[in-house]
Amino acid sequence: MTAAAITKKPLLQKEKEIGLRSVSAAMAMSAAIQKELTSKDMLTKSDRSPVTIADFASQALICKALGSHFPGIPIVGEEDSQAIRRPENHEVFAKVVHYLRQYDPAMEEKLICDLIDMGGDEPNGTFWTLDPIDGTKGFLRGEQFAIALALVQEGQVLLGILGCPNLERSAGGTLFWAGRGKGSWRVPANGGVSEAVHASAKTNTTQMRFVESYESSHSDKDTQLAISQRLLISSPPEQMDSQVKYGIVASGAADIYLRIPNPASRDYREKIWDHAAGSLIVEEAGGRVSDIDGKQLDFSAGKTLAKNRGILASNGAVHERVLQIIAEMAAKK
Ligand code: AMP
Ligand code: MG
Repeated sequence: MTAAAITKKPLLQKEKEIGLRSVSAAMAMSAAIQKELTSKDMLTKSDRSPVTIADFASQALICKALGSHFPGIPIVGEEDSQAIRRPENHEVFAKVVHYLRQYDPAMEEKLICDLIDMGGDEPNGTFWTLDPIDGTKGFLRGEQFAIALALVQEGQVLLGILGCPNLERSAGGTLFWAGRGKGSWRVPANGGVSEAVHASAKTNTTQMRFVESYESSHSDKDTQLAISQRLLISSPPEQMDSQVKYGIVASGAADIYLRIPNPASRDYREKIWDHAAGSLIVEEAGGRVSDIDGKQLDFSAGKTLAKNRGILASNGAVHERVLQIIAEMAAKK
């Protein structure tokens, strides 16, 4: 399908439907895996980050749906099948097969590897980007994680879908989606109608809720705490894994999500799959997203946000004030 054909279609209806259905299935599967997870269900990647059976299974499940309905649209996913193909990891692979077969009896080893590797495309033109388990470390701790899928066209996010199995766990989790120009929506994961979500209208910073990564190495918590104090926010920043942070800013439950690069990994560049879905969901909810210099996120620079530094997502009202404090603090260093 050409890029022009995609924009002409009303509301990206089919992309939205298939995307929601596949993310919803991956939410249920990963929540079940999280409950039964053992220390044997994970591997360590070459960058020393963890990957679990849920990361592989979720990518296979979602790629199967996307590949069969949209064969012409490349998929840029976080995972590949290299590690589970190794004989020494056969037990881990067997668990991936076991869970996937509960959803789809046609899943066998060769097919699963091929499906995971469908996510190995390069970002170009119109493409999907997928984080099958965002916040793997939170997933391993039994805490927040998200399944994030976005459709990007010429550097612009058109559709964002975020499955958050542990947000309102009693309702089966929360599923957010946004379409460019179509608003931001929350769908109860166990069925029901979509309701619009809106960023908060708060202007009094003392009342604001500030969220940041749980993992200390993923941002600069000392500077973030100092910024929250300059804003006179009464409670300290709250830590939470994954793009769930974008979901709660979009729905008004938090007002600021800040991600200042950690000085120990100054050259780290944010991955597109960590921000594409969440950023559109905040913007369409009436909030604002930029990097910490106030620049728009540029999704046309490859697999990373190579032209951006850090992330600021907010309710909009407080955005300029936070950027100003960041600039003042940087000038003093
Ligand atoms: P969060 O839970 O918001 O910290 O987001 C998790 C994501 O942080 C992972 O998917 C990683 O891609 C990303 N990440 C890993 N290392 C770093 C780093 N040094 N700085 C910023 N983000 C990172
Ligand atoms: Mg991630």
